Amino acid sequence: MKARLLDGTAIAAQIRAEAAPAIAAFRARTGRPPGLGIVLVGADPASEIYVRSKLKSAGDAGLRADLARLPASAALDDVLAVVDRLNESDAHDGILVQSPLPSAMGPDAERQVFDRVRPEKDVDGFHPVNVGRLVQNRARLVPCTPSGVIELLERSEIPIAGRRAVVLGRSDIVGKPMALLLLHRHATVTICHSRTTHLASVTAEADILVSAIGRPAFVTSEFVKPGATVIDVGITSLTDRATVERLFPAGSKRREAFERRGALTVGDVHPGVEEVAGALTPVPGGVGPLTIAVLLKNTLAAALLRTAGAG
Ligand code: NAP
Repeated sequence: MKARLLDGTAIAAQIRAEAAPAIAAFRARTGRPPGLGIVLVGADPASEIYVRSKLKSAGDAGLRADLARLPASAALDDVLAVVDRLNESDAHDGILVQSPLPSAMGPDAERQVFDRVRPEKDVDGFHPVNVGRLVQNRARLVPCTPSGVIELLERSEIPIAGRRAVVLGRSDIVGKPMALLLLHRHATVTICHSRTTHLASVTAEADILVSAIGRPAFVTSEFVKPGATVIDVGITSLTDRATVERLFPAGSKRREAFERRGALTVGDVHPGVEEVAGALTPVPGGVGPLTIAVLLKNTLAAALLRTAGAG
C-alpha cells in the first residue's frame, strides 16, 4: 500500500487562518501590523526565491514585511549595522537574516550576525538565549522548520510520545532543534550524521524518521521501517538529467516537470520509499510551506511578547 501523503500546504493554510484573527486584533489594539524585517545579503538564487516567498506570505497575512538588501560585497559590519537598526525599530517585531551569508564574510560571520539579533525579535530561534530556552523546554521562539514538522505531525495525528524517532542531520537550524522538540514530546530520539555507522540499520528502527541532510534520494527503502512516518526536510534543485531519469520514470509528472523547467526540486527521500512508509511528506508541498507559516506565527508571537513587555 502506498504511504499516506502529509499535505504541508493544507496544514500551513490552516495555521495562517488561525493566526489571522490574532493579527487583526493586534492591529486594532496597537494601530500597526506586526512587523518583520528580512535581511538578504548577496544574490544567491535559492535565497532570492525563499525571501520573495516569505515577503509575499507575510504581506498576504496582514503583516508588515520589509526587505533590507545588501550586496555580496558588504562587510560584516554593514550587516551588523542593519541588524542594529532593526533591533531598535519599533515597527519591527521580528528579524530574519537569510542564510547563507556570502562565504567571503568568513566562517564565523553567520554566528556573529545571528547573535546580534535581540532574542525577543529572533523569529528564527537561532540566538543562544532561545536555543537555551528550547533545551530547557521553555521556548518562546522556536526555529521555524522543526517547529513546522511538529505542527505537521500533531495535526496529522501521528503519535509522538513513546515512539522511536530518528533525526538524520545535526545542524543548529534543523537537526538539533528537531531532536529536542521530539524529545520534549516524549519520543525516544536518536540523532544521526555523516559519521554514524550502520546508518540504515539505525534509521530502520524509527517510527518517525526526519531527514534533513540535503542529499537527493539518499534515504532509500532499506532505511525505513514498514509503516513508519517519514518527514523529508531536504531540498535540492536537481539539474542533472541522468539522476532525474534514474529516479523518475518517463511519462511521470515529476519527469514532465523536469522537461518543462530544466530543474526539479527533490528531497532526501527516494521515491521508492512511498511503497514502504506509512505516511510521507512530499517535496515540494511538505515541510517547506510549514516553515513559512511558522515564521508568520513566530512574528506574531514576537509582536505579542514585545508589546506585553515580556521581552
Ligand atoms: P546542513 O547544515 O548542511 O546539515 C546537514 C546535516 O546532514 C549535517 O549534520 C551532516 O552531518 C548531515 N549529513 C550530510 N550528509 C550525510 C550523510 N551522507 N549521511 C548522514 N548524514 C549526513 O543542512 P541544514 O541546514 O540542516 O539543511 C538540511 C536540508 O534541509 C537541506 O537540503 C536544506 O535545503 C533543507 N532545509 C529545508 C527547509 C524547509 O523549509 N523545507 C528549511 C531548512 C533547510 P555532519 O554534521 O556530520 O556533517
